Amino acid sequence: MKKDHEKVWAKCLDVIKDNVTMQSFKTWFEPIKAVKLNSDVLTIQVPSQFFYEWLEEHYIGLLKKIIRKELGTEGRLEYSIIMENSYSNASPYTVKIPTSNTRSIKNPSVAIPMDIGANPIKNPFVIPGLKKINVDSNLNPNYDFDNFIEGDCNRLARSAGFAVANNPGGTSFNPLLIYGGVGLGKTHLAHAIGIEIKKNEPNKTVLYVSSEKFTHQFIDAVKNNTVNDFSHFYQLMDVLIIDDVQFLAGKEKTQDVFFHIFNHLHQTGKQIVLTSDKAPVEMQGVEQRLLSRFKWGLSADLQTPGLETRIAILQKKMYADGIDLPKEVVEYLAYSITTNIRELEGALISLIAHSSLNKRAITLELAKQMIDKFVKNTAREVSIDYIQKVVCDYFDLPIELLKSKTRKREVVQARQIAMFFAKKMTKSSLANIGAHCGGKDHATVLHACRTVNNLQETDKQFRGYLEDLEKKLSIQ
Ligand code: ADP
Ligand code: MG
Repeated sequence: MKKDHEKVWAKCLDVIKDNVTMQSFKTWFEPIKAVKLNSDVLTIQVPSQFFYEWLEEHYIGLLKKIIRKELGTEGRLEYSIIMENSYSNASPYTVKIPTSNTRSIKNPSVAIPMDIGANPIKNPFVIPGLKKINVDSNLNPNYDFDNFIEGDCNRLARSAGFAVANNPGGTSFNPLLIYGGVGLGKTHLAHAIGIEIKKNEPNKTVLYVSSEKFTHQFIDAVKNNTVNDFSHFYQLMDVLIIDDVQFLAGKEKTQDVFFHIFNHLHQTGKQIVLTSDKAPVEMQGVEQRLLSRFKWGLSADLQTPGLETRIAILQKKMYADGIDLPKEVVEYLAYSITTNIRELEGALISLIAHSSLNKRAITLELAKQMIDKFVKNTAREVSIDYIQKVVCDYFDLPIELLKSKTRKREVVQARQIAMFFAKKMTKSSLANIGAHCGGKDHATVLHACRTVNNLQETDKQFRGYLEDLEKKLSIQ
């Protein structure tokens, strides 16, 4: 028969499963063991300190909610962490740590004319008709400017964000619209602006809200007949940050109310920061009058980061988590995952979790396996950059030479081999491959592929090179 603590934890897991991705569930929740239930306190055992910190940082909100649901309002969670004993081979010991309170970036209370449905007002002893409420800024303290690595890909957006943060409502960047693909740092930058403003001017009321949440609040307000209150509430903000405005597409009523809020804030010199996964011109289903307002300020895009920036982001993350990885592993991750920073970080985290769980050192081989398993969809394809690096390492040539126009024999051959593998292993066009390899055109790439094919049939030593390289390049 299951013990009480196991039963409670099993119920928690059921809820958790519905709220996190399968990968997160497997990585972070399956390894947890419930060890004890002492009236209101459930103790769970986690495999390492890193694990505990990760849970606290990313899942504490969810865990708290679930524990309260299962154990009542007094319910609490305690961790028991298996610690490695570094001085001897004695068995691991455990430490107990209660859950912490997440830090929050507090806003001052604001006076609000009426009740509003979506934001419960706790203090009943207030003058009717004028209530003070606390607006939670919803800012994530980890997403600050310090943690945001600057690169060519984000220079304009970052500096515009910084300018806005130092003079909210007072620059011509109003609204500031940050746009770019998934996982490129829009949300991070939006938070960073809010955090910086709170740092400089703690009395400003800053609110971060996703468009999705905004829409749901609005729908609730319509249901409860409190649309006016909803709109008043938003008009009280000094800085309104709305994430993923493309979500408003096709939602005419929500756009309408947002239009009025926008106008009010803009006219009263309040700062508006928006993010979107599309440039304004490509936002279909968003009313023209709103789009034209989006263009009043500055639209700055985030592009995919270059290799150096990707490596710097990984290093920053490792530094923050106190982790040290072999250089080749960091490079491999950065070479392999090129288009999405979230996935890049996800791969790093999976790798660390895996190694801490299985007590294996993080090697290049482990990195290859993990990337294969956890980020199948995006990282499967090796990048041209990576192929070039492997080929250059193999022939002991500097990569700059391969990318240059030099016609030295050994460089030409390495370059042709790199082109051959790029054609074979990536979905890149011939033109793109050529551009990466010394600015050649597509005919040159085609010629290279033919040459390599011919040589492979006639030259045994050359075939040996190809086989070695193929092994190095195939992820398994
Ligand atoms: P988006 O909102 O564009 O989908 P996010 O802001 O959620 O992307 O970023 C995804 C992840 O990548 C976050 O963990 C974020 O901290 C990280 N990230 C993005 N850009 C940078 C950067 N320039 N420096 C450091 N971390 C970054
Ligand atoms: Mg986002």
